Amino acid sequence: MTAPYRSTESFECPTCKVALTAVGQRLVCEQCHHLLIPRGEFDEALFELGGQAVELVEGEPSSRTCPRCANAFVRCGVRVTGVPAKLLRSHTVELGEALACREHGVWIGQDALATMFVTLGEATSSRGSRT
Ligand SMILES: [Zn+2]
Ligand SMILES: [Zn+2]
Repeated sequence: MTAPYRSTESFECPTCKVALTAVGQRLVCEQCHHLLIPRGEFDEALFELGGQAVELVEGEPSSRTCPRCANAFVRCGVRVTGVPAKLLRSHTVELGEALACREHGVWIGQDALATMFVTLGEATSSRGSRT
């Protein structure tokens, strides 16, 4: 019996048009090193670094489209709120920009993501006195 669809769907990088590699729930482009991360996973990774709530502040629509649904991504400012006040002057840490699909999560470069983690990590452990 031949199934009409293969079980492994293929998605294309919105920038490079190469096939994306599925890594768990993520889709990764090995060419431009961008990845599509579901909101749940994205938020969780930031919670682990001390954020309490992750907010995406929607801006202009992008010309890039989501590989899963072909809707246009929206440019979003990424910020984390609820960081303990004693560590910061404000409860909010601005982490930078990413593209996001409301359905499928955040499309971001691995470098930009790493920078966000460092920014948040430094903000939440600025005294460096833990361990
Ligand atoms: Zn790419
Ligand atoms: Zn989508």
